[in-house]
Formats: sequence, structure tokens, C-alpha cells
Amino acid sequence: MNVVDLLESRGAIWHGHFLLASGKHSDTYIQCQRAFVNPEDTTFIASKLVEKASDLVCLGCIDGVVAPALGAVVIGYEVARQIRKPFIFAEREQGKMTFKRGFEVKIGSRFLLVEDVFTTGQSTLELIELVQSHGGIVRVALSVVQRQKQIDLPVPYASLVTLELPLYDPDNCPLCQQGIPLVKPGTKQSQTSS
Ligand SMILES: [Zn+2]
Repeated sequence: MNVVDLLESRGAIWHGHFLLASGKHSDTYIQCQRAFVNPEDTTFIASKLVEKASDLVCLGCIDGVVAPALGAVVIGYEVARQIRKPFIFAEREQGKMTFKRGFEVKIGSRFLLVEDVFTTGQSTLELIELVQSHGGIVRVALSVVQRQKQIDLPVPYASLVTLELPLYDPDNCPLCQQGIPLVKPGTKQSQTSS
């Protein structure tokens, strides 16, 4: 099975009217966690990411894998397990991406960055800058799904599945204009407050 069929069959691709983390609206939401429910699927998807990574960078030259919490922790860990490298993750504290839990980045250490979804690339860029601010280097960034054909990142990147999904500004969203209720996936709290 290819990755996009796997995502579809596991219910990881949702159709409706969604508020994305970037603030944009879309008719499609990618819930990669649905594809990570079965560890065998996670292992398969991670093996595809490792293949992609090995096309772009010498895996022996990588010192560790880094991923953003929470969405990419499972897949990032599995990639790290397969290439036998340490794994750390970053999480948001008051909106700012940070390393907690005593995670350390050694000066000059080279990372493979793993994401579940690239949307605009903005949060990936934040993570790259966080690693840099600790003296590390992101050699390559990988994601399972890329929502747009082109994203703007300062490092080589690749995705297993590239979709071209529309992103709408809230002020100019045809789904809003049709009065379709907006859903913010993931957090119940935001749903009721928006
Ligand atoms: Zn909308």
C-alpha cells in the first residue's frame, strides 16, 4: 500500500471546514495520528521517511532526530529508532517553541527534523531556528504530508505525500460564506471559544 492510500484508509484525511494552526481555513484536515494508531503502520511510514532522508543526506552524519510536540513525537521517535539515533522533541510554552525536560543540543550536532504535516512551513522554521539557537544544525526536514506544493524552508526538505490543498484567509473563505460551521481540530477548548 502506498502512503496516501494508507492515510485515506486509516481516516487520516478529513473533509469539512477547518481552522488550521496557521490561522487559515481549509476544506481538508490531515490528522496523521490516525495513521499512527497501528504501530505497524507507523513503522512502515517511518521506513519511507528514512528512505527519503537517505536520498538527501548521509544518515551516518546525523547525530539525532528532532520533532515538534505533539503531532510528530510518535513518528519522529520511530524514525530515530530505525536509524538508531537519539530523539528529542520541542514543545510550545506560551506560544514559543522550546526544549524542555532537560533535552540537550550539543554544539554542532546535526539533526534530521521530522514533522507530520508541512502546512506553511512556519512552525518548522521555528523549530529549525530553535535548534540553531542552541548551536545545532538541521540538515534536512521531512514530513509525512505536505499540504502545499512549495513551502519556504532554509534547509532541504521532502515529504512522502504532497497535496495541493486550498488555504483560505478567514476574511475571504468560501466555506465561511456558505455558513458551514468552522471546526478547530484537536482542541475542544478552542472550538467553543472561537
Ligand atoms: Zn472559513
